[in-house]
Amino acid sequence: MFPYNPPLQSQLSRLIPAVLMIQAVILDYDGTLVSFDREKAFEAALEPLELDPPAVSANLAELDRKRATSGAYSRRALLARVAPGLEEEALQRAEAAFWQRVMETTRPAPGALDLLRHCRENSLPLGLLTDWDGAPGLKQARLEASGLLSWFDAVVIAGETVAARKPRLEPFLEMCSRLNTRPENAIMVGDKVESDLVPARDLGMAAVWIPGEYPGVWSPHVSQLGEVILLLETSPETTGNE
Ligand SMILES: [Mg+2]
Repeated sequence: MFPYNPPLQSQLSRLIPAVLMIQAVILDYDGTLVSFDREKAFEAALEPLELDPPAVSANLAELDRKRATSGAYSRRALLARVAPGLEEEALQRAEAAFWQRVMETTRPAPGALDLLRHCRENSLPLGLLTDWDGAPGLKQARLEASGLLSWFDAVVIAGETVAARKPRLEPFLEMCSRLNTRPENAIMVGDKVESDLVPARDLGMAAVWIPGEYPGVWSPHVSQLGEVILLLETSPETTGNE
């Protein structure tokens, strides 16, 4: 299903005490469960602004990555920076084109469906814990368009479902409550160390990094979501070998 990963095996020994009682799996959305083409999304936003899309969109995508590291923010404000003086209505159209292209290019990450299937087959409750996108209802619309929502037992959009966003602890606690699990019995998988993993670990969760666009150092980490199955299979609670 996925290649053998010796570094992952060596990480297991450090994680095993934390995963002994895993009863729920919580996934971040962007960059973890799915990916989208950031540069193509900015190209779509810039087309109606009559700028040189390929040249500008690459720079915008890089700026976007840096800003998104610290959480949700307004893409409209970013677009306004490259097209000063533009009317609000045109900016709104550009932003809508950005999100439309994001939705069109969103794909499940490698191994995502393997992990979702594994959780369902093993009756492991699944939670989707994601930050809002800076506009009410937008993340919900993106989640519905992904076709992946039916896999999840609970969804928390931090910033909407609860007011606080990651890395605050409230969204994580709300998710545990909805999954009817204690934090120490949950595993969190995310691509941003500071907002996905640090708060999860602070609450006692097992926290697993999937490196992507954002820098960081964290152990344990996996190269794709299918490898999380290996971690889950070390847990007596989920394999019935208690
Ligand atoms: Mg993410």
